[in-house]
Amino acid sequence: MLLLATFLSVRFGETPRLDARLPVAMALPDVLGGWTGENVWFCRNPACGARHVGAGDRQVCDRCGHALGALSAAERKILPQDTVIVRKEYRNVSDKRINVAIVLSGKERSSIHPPQWCLSGQGYSIKAQHVLPIRLADGRNLNVALLDVEPAADAGARNDGLAFAYWFVGGGHETSSRLARVAWMAFGSIFRGVHERWAYVSVMTARERDGEKHIHQLKEFIGCLHPAVVLPR
Ligand SMILES: [Zn+2]
Repeated sequence: MLLLATFLSVRFGETPRLDARLPVAMALPDVLGGWTGENVWFCRNPACGARHVGAGDRQVCDRCGHALGALSAAERKILPQDTVIVRKEYRNVSDKRINVAIVLSGKERSSIHPPQWCLSGQGYSIKAQHVLPIRLADGRNLNVALLDVEPAADAGARNDGLAFAYWFVGGGHETSSRLARVAWMAFGSIFRGVHERWAYVSVMTARERDGEKHIHQLKEFIGCLHPAVVLPR
Protein backbone atom coordinates (compact mmCIF):
# COMPACT_ATOMS: atom_id res chain seq x y z
CA MET A 1 0.00 0.00 0.00
CA LEU A 2 2.80 2.37 0.95
CA LEU A 3 4.64 1.48 -2.24
CA LEU A 4 1.54 2.10 -4.28
CA ALA A 5 0.96 5.45 -2.57
CA THR A 6 4.58 6.46 -3.22
CA PHE A 7 4.33 5.32 -6.77
CA LEU A 8 1.13 7.29 -7.34
CA SER A 9 2.49 10.43 -5.70
CA VAL A 10 5.47 10.30 -8.03
CA ARG A 11 3.30 9.55 -11.00
CA PHE A 12 1.09 12.52 -10.22
CA GLY A 13 3.75 15.11 -10.14
CA GLU A 14 5.18 15.31 -6.63
CA THR A 15 8.89 15.78 -7.08
CA PRO A 16 10.91 13.26 -5.05
CA ARG A 17 12.94 15.05 -2.36
CA LEU A 18 16.68 15.25 -2.89
CA ASP A 19 18.48 12.69 -0.72
CA ALA A 20 20.85 14.54 1.63
CA ARG A 21 23.26 11.59 1.82
CA LEU A 22 26.28 11.82 -0.44
CA PRO A 23 27.60 8.66 -2.12
CA VAL A 24 31.21 9.83 -2.08
CA ALA A 25 33.45 12.24 -0.17
CA MET A 26 33.70 15.36 -2.32
CA ALA A 27 37.38 15.82 -1.50
CA LEU A 28 40.28 13.86 -2.93
CA PRO A 29 43.19 12.90 -0.66
CA ASP A 30 46.56 14.58 -1.21
CA VAL A 31 48.37 11.23 -1.03
CA LEU A 32 47.20 7.82 -2.26
CA GLY A 33 49.66 4.94 -2.02
CA GLY A 34 52.81 6.12 -3.82
CA TRP A 35 50.95 8.94 -5.57
CA THR A 36 50.82 12.64 -4.65
CA GLY A 37 47.91 14.73 -5.90
CA GLU A 38 47.49 18.40 -6.80
CA ASN A 39 44.32 20.32 -7.59
CA VAL A 40 43.33 21.04 -11.19
CA TRP A 41 41.58 24.24 -12.19
CA PHE A 42 40.42 25.72 -15.48
CA CYS A 43 40.46 29.38 -16.53
CA ARG A 44 36.91 30.62 -17.02
CA ASN A 45 37.94 32.99 -19.79
CA PRO A 46 36.72 31.27 -23.00
CA ALA A 47 39.55 32.85 -24.99
CA CYS A 48 42.15 31.36 -22.63
CA GLY A 49 40.82 28.14 -21.07
CA ALA A 50 44.22 27.34 -19.53
CA ARG A 51 44.49 24.28 -17.29
CA HIS A 52 46.30 24.88 -14.01
CA VAL A 53 47.74 22.19 -11.77
CA GLY A 54 48.93 23.20 -8.33
CA ALA A 55 48.53 22.84 -4.62
CA GLY A 56 46.18 25.08 -2.69
CA ASP A 57 43.08 26.91 -3.80
CA ARG A 58 44.38 29.16 -6.53
CA GLN A 59 41.66 31.54 -7.76
CA VAL A 60 43.12 33.54 -10.64
CA CYS A 61 44.64 32.52 -13.98
CA ASP A 62 48.32 33.48 -14.14
CA ARG A 63 48.11 33.83 -17.93
CA CYS A 64 45.15 36.19 -18.25
CA GLY A 65 44.01 37.14 -14.73
CA HIS A 66 40.50 35.66 -15.08
CA ALA A 67 38.84 33.65 -12.33
CA LEU A 68 39.43 29.89 -12.23
CA GLY A 69 36.77 27.21 -11.82
CA ALA A 70 36.50 23.47 -11.45
CA LEU A 71 34.75 22.91 -14.81
CA SER A 72 36.53 22.92 -18.15
CA ALA A 73 35.09 24.99 -21.01
CA ALA A 74 33.54 21.86 -22.57
CA GLU A 75 31.95 20.86 -19.24
CA ARG A 76 30.55 24.35 -18.59
CA LYS A 77 28.77 24.17 -21.94
CA ILE A 78 27.00 20.86 -21.31
CA LEU A 79 26.62 20.42 -17.55
CA PRO A 80 23.90 21.93 -15.33
CA GLN A 81 24.80 24.81 -13.00
CA ASP A 82 24.47 22.73 -9.82
CA THR A 83 27.06 20.15 -10.89
CA VAL A 84 29.88 19.75 -8.36
CA ILE A 85 33.26 18.47 -9.54
CA VAL A 86 36.46 17.73 -7.66
CA ARG A 87 39.59 16.73 -9.49
CA LYS A 88 43.26 16.13 -8.88
CA GLU A 89 46.28 15.14 -10.89
CA TYR A 90 48.42 12.51 -9.16
CA ARG A 91 52.10 11.76 -9.86
CA ASN A 92 54.40 8.99 -8.69
CA VAL A 93 58.21 9.04 -8.37
CA SER A 94 58.56 8.12 -12.08
CA ASP A 95 56.48 11.21 -13.00
CA LYS A 96 53.69 9.00 -14.32
CA ARG A 97 50.38 10.87 -14.03
CA ILE A 98 46.88 9.76 -13.13
CA ASN A 99 43.97 12.20 -13.34
CA VAL A 100 40.93 11.73 -11.13
CA ALA A 101 37.60 13.55 -11.35
CA ILE A 102 34.45 13.04 -9.31
CA VAL A 103 31.23 14.56 -10.62
CA LEU A 104 28.29 14.78 -8.22
CA SER A 105 24.80 15.15 -9.59
CA GLY A 106 22.46 17.77 -8.18
CA LYS A 107 18.75 17.97 -8.95
CA GLU A 108 19.53 17.91 -12.64
CA ARG A 109 20.24 14.36 -13.67
CA SER A 110 22.24 15.38 -16.71
CA SER A 111 25.24 16.27 -14.49
CA ILE A 112 26.33 12.69 -14.90
CA HIS A 113 26.97 12.37 -18.57
CA PRO A 114 28.50 9.71 -20.78
CA PRO A 115 32.31 10.23 -20.91
CA GLN A 116 31.98 10.21 -24.69
CA TRP A 117 30.54 13.76 -24.53
CA CYS A 118 33.57 15.29 -22.91
CA LEU A 119 36.15 13.11 -24.63
CA SER A 120 34.91 13.99 -28.10
CA GLY A 121 34.73 17.67 -27.07
CA GLN A 122 38.42 17.43 -26.22
CA GLY A 123 39.44 15.83 -29.50
CA TYR A 124 39.47 12.16 -28.53
CA SER A 125 37.65 9.13 -29.82
CA ILE A 126 36.92 5.82 -28.14
CA LYS A 127 38.47 2.78 -29.80
CA ALA A 128 37.32 0.03 -27.46
CA GLN A 129 35.43 -0.52 -24.25
CA HIS A 130 35.99 -3.24 -21.65
CA VAL A 131 34.90 -4.09 -18.14
CA LEU A 132 37.85 -4.12 -15.75
CA PRO A 133 37.34 -6.11 -12.53
CA ILE A 134 39.19 -4.76 -9.50
CA ARG A 135 39.67 -6.65 -6.26
CA LEU A 136 39.14 -4.24 -3.34
CA ALA A 137 40.98 -4.45 -0.01
CA ASP A 138 37.78 -5.65 1.72
CA GLY A 139 37.59 -8.61 -0.68
CA ARG A 140 34.72 -7.27 -2.78
CA ASN A 141 34.95 -7.01 -6.55
CA LEU A 142 34.39 -3.66 -8.28
CA ASN A 143 33.71 -3.61 -12.00
CA VAL A 144 34.75 -0.40 -13.72
CA ALA A 145 34.36 0.51 -17.38
CA LEU A 146 37.68 0.91 -19.20
CA LEU A 147 37.88 2.87 -22.44
CA ASP A 148 40.80 2.81 -24.88
CA VAL A 149 40.92 6.38 -26.09
CA GLU A 150 42.88 7.76 -29.06
CA PRO A 151 43.29 11.33 -30.27
CA ALA A 152 40.80 11.95 -33.10
CA ALA A 153 42.33 11.79 -36.58
CA ASP A 154 41.97 15.55 -37.06
CA ALA A 155 43.64 16.39 -33.74
CA GLY A 156 47.16 15.82 -35.06
CA ALA A 157 49.73 13.68 -33.30
CA ARG A 158 49.76 15.78 -30.13
CA ASN A 159 49.03 12.98 -27.69
CA ASP A 160 49.36 9.30 -27.03
CA GLY A 161 46.32 7.23 -26.28
CA LEU A 162 44.60 7.24 -22.90
CA ALA A 163 43.16 4.60 -20.65
CA PHE A 164 39.98 6.03 -19.14
CA ALA A 165 38.27 4.13 -16.32
CA TYR A 166 34.99 5.10 -14.68
CA TRP A 167 32.12 3.88 -12.56
CA PHE A 168 28.99 5.25 -10.89
CA VAL A 169 28.15 5.32 -7.17
CA GLY A 170 24.76 6.11 -5.64
CA GLY A 171 21.95 4.81 -3.44
CA GLY A 172 24.22 2.13 -1.97
CA HIS A 173 25.04 0.75 -5.43
CA GLU A 174 28.11 0.80 -7.64
CA THR A 175 28.06 -0.01 -11.33
CA SER A 176 30.02 0.54 -14.52
CA SER A 177 26.79 0.49 -16.53
CA ARG A 178 24.94 3.67 -17.41
CA LEU A 179 21.73 1.71 -17.93
CA ALA A 180 21.98 0.09 -14.50
CA ARG A 181 22.51 3.55 -12.96
CA VAL A 182 19.43 4.93 -14.70
CA ALA A 183 17.40 1.93 -13.52
CA TRP A 184 18.59 2.31 -9.88
CA MET A 185 17.78 6.04 -9.99
CA ALA A 186 14.28 5.35 -11.27
CA PHE A 187 13.83 2.68 -8.61
CA GLY A 188 14.84 5.16 -5.89
CA SER A 189 12.46 7.84 -7.16
CA ILE A 190 9.47 5.56 -7.61
CA PHE A 191 9.73 3.17 -4.68
CA ARG A 192 11.62 5.22 -2.08
CA GLY A 193 10.37 8.68 -3.05
CA VAL A 194 13.87 10.14 -3.02
CA HIS A 195 16.10 11.52 -5.66
CA GLU A 196 19.36 9.81 -4.75
CA ARG A 197 22.62 11.63 -5.34
CA TRP A 198 24.86 9.79 -7.77
CA ALA A 199 28.53 10.34 -8.44
CA TYR A 200 30.59 9.56 -11.49
CA VAL A 201 34.21 8.71 -10.69
CA SER A 202 36.74 8.79 -13.53
CA VAL A 203 40.40 7.80 -13.43
CA MET A 204 42.56 8.41 -16.48
CA THR A 205 46.18 7.80 -17.44
CA ALA A 206 48.39 7.60 -20.53
CA ARG A 207 48.29 4.23 -22.26
CA GLU A 208 51.51 2.33 -22.78
CA ARG A 209 52.14 1.48 -26.43
CA ASP A 210 53.42 -1.94 -25.44
CA GLY A 211 52.36 -3.93 -22.46
CA GLU A 212 49.75 -3.45 -19.79
CA LYS A 213 51.67 -1.72 -17.03
CA HIS A 214 49.17 1.17 -17.09
CA ILE A 215 46.31 -1.29 -16.50
CA HIS A 216 48.02 -2.69 -13.40
CA GLN A 217 48.72 0.84 -12.20
CA LEU A 218 45.08 1.83 -12.70
CA LYS A 219 43.84 -1.23 -10.82
CA GLU A 220 46.18 -0.61 -7.91
CA PHE A 221 45.34 3.10 -7.85
CA ILE A 222 41.57 2.53 -7.90
CA GLY A 223 42.03 -0.03 -5.13
CA CYS A 224 43.54 2.78 -2.98
CA LEU A 225 41.08 5.45 -4.17
CA HIS A 226 37.91 3.46 -3.52
CA PRO A 227 38.02 3.25 0.29
CA ALA A 228 39.20 6.90 0.44
CA VAL A 229 36.20 8.33 -1.42
CA VAL A 230 33.26 5.90 -1.51
CA LEU A 231 31.21 6.46 1.66
CA PRO A 232 29.63 3.53 3.54
CA ARG A 233 25.86 3.47 3.29
ZN1 LIG B 1 43.32 32.41 -18.39
